[in-house]
Amino acid sequence: MKNIYFPEPFRIKSVEPLTILKREEREKKIEKAGYNVFALAASDVYIDLLTDSGTGAMSSQQWAGVMLGDESYAGADCYYKVQDSAKKIFDMPYIQLVHQGRAAEKVLLPILLSGKKYAISNMHFDTTRAHVELAGARAIDCVVPQALDTTTYYDFKGNMDCERLERYIDELGAENIGVIIMTITNNSAGGQPVSVENIRKTREIAHKHGIKFMIDAARYAENSYFVKQREREFADSTIADIVKATFEGADCFTMSAKKDAIVNMGGLIGCRDSELFELIKQRTISFEGFITYGGMSGRDIEALAQGLNEGLDENYLKYRIGQMEYLAGRLEEGGIPFQSPVGGHAVFVDAKKLLPHIPYYEFPAQALAIELYLEAGIRACDIGSFMLGNDPDTGKQLKADFEFTRLAVPRRVYTQSHLDVIADALINIKERAAKIKGYRIVEEPPILRHFTAKLAPV
Ligand SMILES: *Cc1c(COP(=O)(O)O)cnc(C)c1O
Repeated sequence: MKNIYFPEPFRIKSVEPLTILKREEREKKIEKAGYNVFALAASDVYIDLLTDSGTGAMSSQQWAGVMLGDESYAGADCYYKVQDSAKKIFDMPYIQLVHQGRAAEKVLLPILLSGKKYAISNMHFDTTRAHVELAGARAIDCVVPQALDTTTYYDFKGNMDCERLERYIDELGAENIGVIIMTITNNSAGGQPVSVENIRKTREIAHKHGIKFMIDAARYAENSYFVKQREREFADSTIADIVKATFEGADCFTMSAKKDAIVNMGGLIGCRDSELFELIKQRTISFEGFITYGGMSGRDIEALAQGLNEGLDENYLKYRIGQMEYLAGRLEEGGIPFQSPVGGHAVFVDAKKLLPHIPYYEFPAQALAIELYLEAGIRACDIGSFMLGNDPDTGKQLKADFEFTRLAVPRRVYTQSHLDVIADALINIKERAAKIKGYRIVEEPPILRHFTAKLAPV
């Protein structure tokens, strides 16, 4: 799997100049930021890999849509366009616009979890988990064990562990489980894909027990592309057909359009049941706005209607996943350890393996993120013990299963040369890895500390 890539199926019409600071300047900036990359000004970053969410580049068609967007309060033209696109793509009769993924969760999950105790997912994304808990239920993750092994190849590390799911249903009681959620791709496991076979099996288990089956669809197009590559049944299918097979029989879905619909803001809810849709509409009106705009500007809705279709273009997906595979190939050549095979939206570098001399309580993945900034002005983030935080009961630092430095790649934003800068930076860092020191926390808030904590070198 070395250096496979598919070149950009677009050319560049408008460019956004970037600053390249000197190393000494970056040293001052990161020190001033308390060694926390979230406190850096974006203008002091050269390549920003903090997230792929809402950071994509819109196409000329989408920008044209910004001008076409109809800002009428009710029944705007763009509302009908997005309804048409979404109903066709997902083959679901009822679609509701909302302003982003967590808004979809806020509207839908309390309905599904009313009077229930549990939600089970292959892996809950953090906002999904938060909304399950806010609805008074507990979120249980049930991913296949292969997800935890970063070095062994497995086609579908994002899959639900169906045997364990059946055991959970027996133990907890089907009547206590409000929803079974399939997150595609499995973000928390490293953007790992889920097979259609596994989606079908999970749906059948849910329905056999009378439990609703929901898809968290943020990266449904990237997932469909992996299915085409790796699942024999779909080798000759179109992406559109794989999406239909994915959503077939699902009761509902939530979606952050900031990922695969390549817009800076937007979200969707879909469902098949008219009574459920009535409840969704009522909650949307209270939280998001009237149903035909759902918290969005008309111009953003227009861009979303267009982006939904662009995100499914096979040449685009080939290029997109090709970028990830190219970067992963260069890292593999350079001996940099990462969650393998690479996922759809990010490379998760295994900082525990790259910096084995730094213990978890001195945050190896954070140390690597800081080195990347010093080395080449790259902003990545810690998905490890620094993010996990302290035990709420004892106040002691928790030890994460993984110490990942995540390099999330925005859509259609960076070129292959940028990817080379990233790979070269990591390879340089590897050469002086033994000299890199860990960090200690000097200031931290009680929850979600990684966004605002301040650190200092050990
Ligand atoms: C991003 C994301 C969400 C939340 O969406 P926002 O648009 O950030 O609110 C939910 N689930 C998954 C899998 C995501 O990746």
